[in-house]
Amino acid sequence: METMKRTVTCGELRAGRAGQTVVLNGWVHRKRDHGGITFINLRDRYGVTQVVVDTKTTVAAHVTAPDLDAVAAELRNEYCIAVEGVVRLRPEEMANPSMPTGAVETLATKIVILNRSDMLPFQIDDEINAGEDLRLTYRYLDMRSKSMQRRIKLRSDVTFAAREFMINQGFYEIETPTFIKPTPEGARDYLVPSRLYAGKFYALPQSPQLYKQLLMAGGFDKYFQIARCYRDEDSRGDRQPEFTQIDIEMSFVSRDDVLSITERLMGHVFMKTLDIALPERFKRLTWKEAQEKYGSDKPDLRFGMELRDFAPYAEAGGFQAFKDALAGGGGVKALVAPGGADYSRKRIEELEAHAKIYKAKGMAWMKVAGGAGHEAKLEGGVAKFFTTNAGDIIAGLEANAGDLILIVADAKRKIANTALGAVRAKLGKDLRLVDPRAFEFVWIVDFPLFEFNEEENHWEAAHHLFSYPQEQYHDILEGDPGAVLGDLYDLVLNGYELASGSIRVHDPELQKRIFSIAGIAAEEAERKFGFLTNAFKYGAPPHGGIAPGLDRLVMLMAGETSIKEVIAFPKNSFAVSPMDECPCEVEQKQLDELHMVVRTP
Ligand code: ASP
Repeated sequence: METMKRTVTCGELRAGRAGQTVVLNGWVHRKRDHGGITFINLRDRYGVTQVVVDTKTTVAAHVTAPDLDAVAAELRNEYCIAVEGVVRLRPEEMANPSMPTGAVETLATKIVILNRSDMLPFQIDDEINAGEDLRLTYRYLDMRSKSMQRRIKLRSDVTFAAREFMINQGFYEIETPTFIKPTPEGARDYLVPSRLYAGKFYALPQSPQLYKQLLMAGGFDKYFQIARCYRDEDSRGDRQPEFTQIDIEMSFVSRDDVLSITERLMGHVFMKTLDIALPERFKRLTWKEAQEKYGSDKPDLRFGMELRDFAPYAEAGGFQAFKDALAGGGGVKALVAPGGADYSRKRIEELEAHAKIYKAKGMAWMKVAGGAGHEAKLEGGVAKFFTTNAGDIIAGLEANAGDLILIVADAKRKIANTALGAVRAKLGKDLRLVDPRAFEFVWIVDFPLFEFNEEENHWEAAHHLFSYPQEQYHDILEGDPGAVLGDLYDLVLNGYELASGSIRVHDPELQKRIFSIAGIAAEEAERKFGFLTNAFKYGAPPHGGIAPGLDRLVMLMAGETSIKEVIAFPKNSFAVSPMDECPCEVEQKQLDELHMVVRTP
């Protein structure tokens, strides 16, 4: 190998290198035979370059090893080879301007096969055309594709840029343990049985939450970590059993300090890796505004189509179901679908079915027909109930002739908002209102601190138990938990929750009150979180933080819709790795050592 070690990569040869002898190492991407002359596209992660085997050419004939033709004949796709040769300009008509190396080719004088390849399960192309499980079974081949190479490089660049920014801002990167006491983030823990202590378990961290707070108690006032987190929940496109966060915590800060450092972090990462300038400050919406305008706490702001309050028109109109919803303290919300007047009944039913997934009982509609302004009128659906105030409705909703008005009423205002918000999101995609290259960040602030768990009939933390209730609510915490807003914030990008964070509780007494409202008895709180509340007794500083998800960030930057596309070795949608077949059974001896008995269903 020594003499056949690469002197150049497959991506770097240009016209200026003509005449030089080089050694290339890489994979046979494509091979073509043209009557005694063989063309090989040789590939590595830097690019593709053309190699020519032409033993009749004088230069080559002069130095050719006798078996060059035989070796060239044996080559198949994905053979790993070393080529020694002389770079030459391609004749003008043979140059390939679409290839960065397309002005030249390397006339081979020697080829060594470093390793042969079996028949491939799929062709290595820019984009792999195969099902997910096949791609994951052969991930090491899948990742030879140009698109995977580009995405994994982007991930490395983003991670580096994030580290660079944080370190330059005076943060320390500190590792926190992977075997811990459970940290509740609202998901199920992955557990690791202890061999030394029968019946005891470590948990894998759902996030480094408690440990980063302890670092604040320890005086490390600016912490970050590219942290692996583990949550045992059903996988989805943007979820995996293990994922990575850019975990951040700071002492002596207010909410705006955390938002600002995150905005600057994003700005640095986007500029450094995509050459995109983000606004210095991101838009902000309160949680309530987000619900009312977009029916979601993670709205996609790449398009408008805000939800409107239909209540005033419902009161004046004659449709009883709307009035009933309002009388019950609920809401009636409307959405204008631009150009929707020509939707078929079937299409409208599909949209209604979508609203029903989000618990709407139904969705009313009417079409805006006729000319512009005063000429416009309402038709179809529930229009007949609104003949007297049609003009007000059209003007108030800023609807135009040719639009479709969709209305959801519910005795629970939240359902009217959420269901119509889901229809808005669907229409945004269906109508291609979203620019796939746009990045619209928005902060959602002022979340409720508690949510009522209907199934278990108790209040629980909306984010996690350690978030700070805004000062003005401290007196009513126990009296009216549902009204309490927390110092909580989410960063949303293009309809995805990119980061969550909060200012934390640092007063042990306040922390105890929150545990108690969330139904965690003093004894249980002490057992589970005593190590944190004890730390707070020794002058713990006020602190807060946030944790942007690295996988989602890279996914969105790469224009993908699944985080699997930006993780080197992800699990499939069933939390299985088809390549190494995990999870898998273990040997009886291991179970015995762990004091475990497996009960098969
Ligand atoms: N630990 C939180 C989470 O993973 C983020 C934070 O509050 O900093 O969502």
